[in-house]
Amino acid sequence: MDIKFLKGVGEKRAEAFRKIGIDSLEDFLTFIPRIHIKRVKIADARRMLGENIIVYGRVLSVTRPSRPSHPVTVELEDGTGSIEIPIFGGSEFRAKQFRLDEDYVFYGKVSEAFKGYTTRLDYRDHLRINLTDETDRDFLKYSFVPIYELSGILKATWIKPLTLSKIVFNAFRYVIKSSPGVPEDTLPASVINDNVLYSKKDAVLRINFPINFEQIETARKRLAFEELFYLQLLLALKRKNLKDEIKGISFETDIKQIAGNFIKVLKFDLTKAQKRVINEIYSDMKSEKVMNRLLQGDVGSGKTIVSVFGMLIALKCGSQSAFMCPTEILAEQHFNTISEFIGKYNKVAGTDYSVTLLVGGQKKKLRNEILGNIKSGMSNIIIGTHALIQESVSFANLGFVVIDEQHKFGVMQRAKIKDKGLNPDVLVMTATPIPRTLSLTYYGDLDVSVIDELPANRKKVITSLVKDTAKFETWSFVKDKLGKGSRAFIIYPIIDESEKLDLKSAEENFLNHKNINFKNFNVGMVHGRMPWYEIEETMNDFKSGKLDVLVATTVIEVGIDIPEANVMIIEEAQRFGLSQLHQLRGRVGRGADQSYCIMIAKYLDEISKKRLDTLCRTTDGFEIAEVDMEIRGPGEFYGIRQSGVLNFSVTDLAKDNDILEKARKTAFNIVDRDPHLRMHEHEMIRKELLKKYKDSMYLMNIA
Ligand code: ADP
Ligand code: MG
Repeated sequence: MDIKFLKGVGEKRAEAFRKIGIDSLEDFLTFIPRIHIKRVKIADARRMLGENIIVYGRVLSVTRPSRPSHPVTVELEDGTGSIEIPIFGGSEFRAKQFRLDEDYVFYGKVSEAFKGYTTRLDYRDHLRINLTDETDRDFLKYSFVPIYELSGILKATWIKPLTLSKIVFNAFRYVIKSSPGVPEDTLPASVINDNVLYSKKDAVLRINFPINFEQIETARKRLAFEELFYLQLLLALKRKNLKDEIKGISFETDIKQIAGNFIKVLKFDLTKAQKRVINEIYSDMKSEKVMNRLLQGDVGSGKTIVSVFGMLIALKCGSQSAFMCPTEILAEQHFNTISEFIGKYNKVAGTDYSVTLLVGGQKKKLRNEILGNIKSGMSNIIIGTHALIQESVSFANLGFVVIDEQHKFGVMQRAKIKDKGLNPDVLVMTATPIPRTLSLTYYGDLDVSVIDELPANRKKVITSLVKDTAKFETWSFVKDKLGKGSRAFIIYPIIDESEKLDLKSAEENFLNHKNINFKNFNVGMVHGRMPWYEIEETMNDFKSGKLDVLVATTVIEVGIDIPEANVMIIEEAQRFGLSQLHQLRGRVGRGADQSYCIMIAKYLDEISKKRLDTLCRTTDGFEIAEVDMEIRGPGEFYGIRQSGVLNFSVTDLAKDNDILEKARKTAFNIVDRDPHLRMHEHEMIRKELLKKYKDSMYLMNIA
């Protein structure tokens, strides 16, 4: 049946539905309600103050207002009691709209009037019920009414929330009566049985029209399982194929010799976690398979040196290594520390490895020279920014790629740097721990290493939250510390570098600090509008101790390493995100001395308070990431939503951890047994996968 013949639809609305992708009656079965509203007896409404409810009854009276701007009041009665429903707007029309003694469903919020003497319903929507109509009678059998997202396209055809609920109901009723086999299942029976799930049909039926509240959640879980299962299946295939089909470089070498020299140069002992991760990386590099490894480790956990070990393995085997960072200032910093390290290593090991920096803004002559060295193979380790992926850059033999702070890069940028070599091994690093659910979905095709231990010499950063009014105490605390040889960061929020006002206030504050608060000390400032070499110069002055105080915006957010800086003040801390604050705080606490982080905030709403309290309570990046995901939702995390991978309609990564684990296990088992999904029993999931992920399938090699 054409959808235009469905009761409540018609020509115009059918057109609107088509525009949002609903072409057939079966397509209505893909609707997922935003919420369910409980239908209650009018007598019970009294106890549900502030809640949204549905009531069903007969119109007792319709009272016109004394003035046209006042509401028409409908009185509805259902045998248990009656309730007043004031309806604002268009009183002339409204007064005629409701007929005495006829039946209606009303949707609204319970409120009180006359100091609690009367219960009312704040009107949201209504639906006329015709008891001689069988679909209307059936509609009333359910005690929950699903409410759907109403797009502008539908609204334009006067579809109101309950109209849509009824249309969807009519479609369900028609489809289920006329084609009992629809919808067909989209998971194999074995998967459904093993995981104790609803059938597809039960799930779509019950998530829309549940008999009781539990059914909604059971149905949602089944649909979430399906979403996660197919994503995991995709990831499992991607991983399997990447590993098995594409030949990478086998870096087989005498790792003991490298390790011996490496340890001689290091000023410290590696942590157990660092050693473990080095072994994980080496076993990947040794094998012929292409390495795709994510290295997660909290700020200051020492990821850089671990990646240097990987670079040395590649160099020893005659390949080049590239190290890509998100900012010039970081590239420069890593260039300095890595060059210094390699210089010493060369002496100990008798090698002559060279380290090169490639960033934007280098003089043309220098740049051409650098490009020549990269191309000829004279440069062994190349450290740089996005400049590394420009077309003009070609490598002699790039075999190992490190991407630092990888969440700052897009998928395409990561792919581009890989393309500069011939199936190089790739290590992506992130200092922002990612909740497990998110890393399993977003990075599910990568192998994951975790440095879950900080170097032993670290002390926990003492973190506190102070009111704006306690600024003076804060400055005198800082002065006291500076007098004892500390260096301090003072951070100002500039969310968007184009916000002129913010910049002005940061600059004013800088002058205050320089001329008043810390006039006996040397104060510098960096912000994102400065050219990188000026930022560089100021940072270096701070690093070398020429400056005692560095006023900064978030340009110092990632990776900066200055062990002597052990005081950080964050102004207007409520304006930063949780992970961002954690990153910022990671700039202190890198040396052996006790570090302090003081967050200053003016006004705190509940969520800001939760954020800042979490930081005061813990320094564990994983714990912080979990809270951050809970507050912001997984989609906001690093703007992953834009990537399109996480376009879930029912899954909630913040709470569906156990479903994810089950779905992942099931999917990976299937791919293990049947890497090309060729078995007869997997035919259905192969079809379904192709349907869901058409666009990503070019990566896969399935029949
Ligand atoms: P991140 O993981 O945040 O990138 P870095 O690699 O920049 O951290 O390391 C932070 C600091 O800790 C650096 O100064 C580094 O030299 C030092 N470091 C790394 N590993 C150790 C260790 N095992 N013991 C002591 N210091 C270490
Ligand atoms: Mg780092």
